[in-house]
Amino acid sequence: MTQNSPDLVTMEFIEDFAKIVGRQNVLVGEDVSQRSDTWVPTRAMEAACIVRPATTEEVAAIAVYCDRNGLALVPQGGRTGLAGGACTKAGDVALSLERMTAISPVDQAGLTMEVEAGAPLQAVQEAATAAGFLYPVDLGARGSATIGGTIATNAGGNSVFRYGMTRDQVLGLEVVLADGTVLNSMNRLIKNNAAYDLKHMFVGSEGTLGIITRAILRLRPMPGDKATAFIGVSSFDAVLDLLALANSNADGALSSFEVMWPSFLNIVMGGGHHRPPLEGEHAFYVLAEIASHRASELMDHVVGLAWERGLVEDAAIAQNVAQASSFWAIRDDIDALLGGMKSVHLYDISLPQRDMANYVEDLDAALRRSWSNASLAVFGHVADGNLHVAICPGEEGHHPTIDAMVYSPLEALRGSISAEHGIGLEKLPYLRHSRSDAEIAVMSRLKALLDPRSTLNPGKVIPDAAS
Ligand code: FAD
Repeated sequence: MTQNSPDLVTMEFIEDFAKIVGRQNVLVGEDVSQRSDTWVPTRAMEAACIVRPATTEEVAAIAVYCDRNGLALVPQGGRTGLAGGACTKAGDVALSLERMTAISPVDQAGLTMEVEAGAPLQAVQEAATAAGFLYPVDLGARGSATIGGTIATNAGGNSVFRYGMTRDQVLGLEVVLADGTVLNSMNRLIKNNAAYDLKHMFVGSEGTLGIITRAILRLRPMPGDKATAFIGVSSFDAVLDLLALANSNADGALSSFEVMWPSFLNIVMGGGHHRPPLEGEHAFYVLAEIASHRASELMDHVVGLAWERGLVEDAAIAQNVAQASSFWAIRDDIDALLGGMKSVHLYDISLPQRDMANYVEDLDAALRRSWSNASLAVFGHVADGNLHVAICPGEEGHHPTIDAMVYSPLEALRGSISAEHGIGLEKLPYLRHSRSDAEIAVMSRLKALLDPRSTLNPGKVIPDAAS
């Protein structure tokens, strides 16, 4: 037995799981510890085992077994979540959907697609594209993140502004409850108001209410070409004016409007992996994308108007797909950001756009009062009211005071402590800054109703009713 081998009690239920999914699909020991349950592999995964079912029936049998035997069952997709929702403890059973990756042919008239929960997001995007349609959820972790994980976290990404969050793309779901009930809610209809729309309870529930096994996704027509511009702007007011101008002059085809503060750009460019799209320095950098059959014409029009109105200091419009990708590579280079900041704390928040500049300024000042070496890098999906904030206090260790500095002001601004990454484990102590006591109480009652023994992902998202 290896150092991480399970003890005898654990061996018993591992044998029982093997009867359900086959011995080769119950991973133990080093097969567990060599995985990481966080995207940045900061530690080896701890769990009694990883079970890999191939069918909904196997998922249901595993859920029943865990529920009856008091075992915590933690659903896992691509383990790219950024709030600790897929993290396990020693003794937990990890349920990996990695063998459930089927993608059915596109229904071209209904504009739908049926997929299994373990299918990677990128594979789903590619299958939709191959059929001539768009699955509009897109994010940097597309190669590893799964459809089940993106639904369970209600992932956002780069095109929310135009197409909405993952919730807006889900028509139907199949979900396994803790007691093994298979809830078939595989609706394909865009219009269906026949009583409560139960699927929405599971979208964004981060594996605490049920295990998503299949989904009917809504596709969109291909929007045509893309035009991408990297724009230097002198003030945050000008950023918001540029957003308003693009909204009213791009025929509704603005698909992304990402903003980077210089602190973010300097760190990412500091790695030397990217060519600067613009000369000189600017107070803010905007990455704007228009998706339309007239994309280039519309982008020229918007950028031209912005020049005339003095809203831009400099702008580069990508001349080809490779150049557009190189612009996006800067925005998506989280590795360079993390590499350039030691002991970084990452936050994902929402707040009204008009409050963003002051919020960031105040946060910067508060940080520097506590840590003279602190650094702050900010970027985000500003059109969605969503900022990502990376903070390095200048010394090692977790500092709950930083969490409070980031989260507390959001309550007064009616912002959110989690725009798109969920609550998971890490944000649970701060939930009250975004949700009222009554809301939290109703969520706890829902959890107790669907999962009375707190089998599914216990200790995540909401205070645990069973603890
Ligand atoms: P996991 O990380 O494995 O799990 C996430 C949560 O979902 C856990 O609570 C888990 O228990 C639960 N879960 C997983 N599968 C199931 C299932 N089948 N049934 C029930 N529960 C399940 N997120 C955004 O929203 N927008 C972004 O722009 C974005 N960009 C990112 C960029 C990078 C580089 C990285 C690393 C992450 C990014 N993320 C972003 C976060 C992450 O990609 C998403 O949260 C993603 O949706 C998680 O999918 P996953 O399959 O990796 O899920």
